[in-house]
Amino acid sequence: MSQCLFCAIVAGDIAAEVVDESEHCIAFRDITPQAPTHVLVIPREHYADAAELSGADPALAAALLADATRVAGDLGLAPGGYRMVLNTGDDGGQTVHHVHVHLLGGRRMGWPPG
Ligand code: 5GP
Ligand code: ZN
Repeated sequence: MSQCLFCAIVAGDIAAEVVDESEHCIAFRDITPQAPTHVLVIPREHYADAAELSGADPALAAALLADATRVAGDLGLAPGGYRMVLNTGDDGGQTVHHVHVHLLGGRRMGWPPG
């Protein structure tokens, strides 16, 4: 089994509620949702964070953004709006070091974040 939690989800070794799969990415519901809809969109390939991904494979970074946008539409979030978040590093609040887009919607989001 992979050492990385999200690689293990990609491999099917750890269960997740998958809502979308594409050639490059998968999307699954966050186990601790912070909004009525809270989905994580991740590349199948392992990169630690957004900086590492965009430096190594900008086309995959673009595919991740495009897939997250498509999933937002498919889940009905587009009319009301939604938020995408990429926590990066310790001060960014990142706890799982496999790059992921948090897709949050279904309620009005505050700003600034805590
Ligand atoms: P981060 O803090 O790294 O930006 O976000 C990691 C997210 O992964 C958190 O929102 C957390 O709830 C979620 N998470 C952690 N472990 C699991 C798990 O086993 N399954 C799922 N679906 N989400 C998880
Ligand atoms: Zn990984």
